[in-house]
Amino acid sequence: MESGQDWKIAALTINKCVCFLFVGDILDKYIDILIKLANKSLKNGDVPVSAIVVENGKMISKAHNLKYKKKDVTAHAEILAIKKACKKKKSYYLNNCTLYVTLEPCMMCTAAIIQSHIKEVVYCVKSPKFGYLSSKNNDIKLKITECYNETYEKMLKDFFKNKR
Ligand SMILES: [Zn+2]
Repeated sequence: MESGQDWKIAALTINKCVCFLFVGDILDKYIDILIKLANKSLKNGDVPVSAIVVENGKMISKAHNLKYKKKDVTAHAEILAIKKACKKKKSYYLNNCTLYVTLEPCMMCTAAIIQSHIKEVVYCVKSPKFGYLSSKNNDIKLKITECYNETYEKMLKDFFKNKR
């Protein structure tokens, strides 16, 4: 190998690391926001779930689960965040948007995500009972990323433990 090639590989590797750290930082920032929002649901006696919609690196809406507080079965964090984002964009399409959500979306929220043309969903914890994205019986063509977060999982488990 020539010395010039050596240098090129090292530079590429460094670039990759920098990119990875950069993405990780942003993700951490969004997860921080999500956890603070999920806490608001907890205070209302609601299951702690929160969601944000991000378009080209800019957060355009945020919401937390208000099902119990509003006595509204459709007041899931994802639905509320999508509604706010659509209102802001004056459109029912959210083509270039990513939805970050603490808990895997249910069937209702998945339908809203698909209808709104959201391009990617990032969620922290799988929902074995209502989660629809990881169920085997769907043929959803949507970019799905699971991004496990221990703090959130503990918050969720504690909530259900205290309910019993
Ligand atoms: Zn839902």
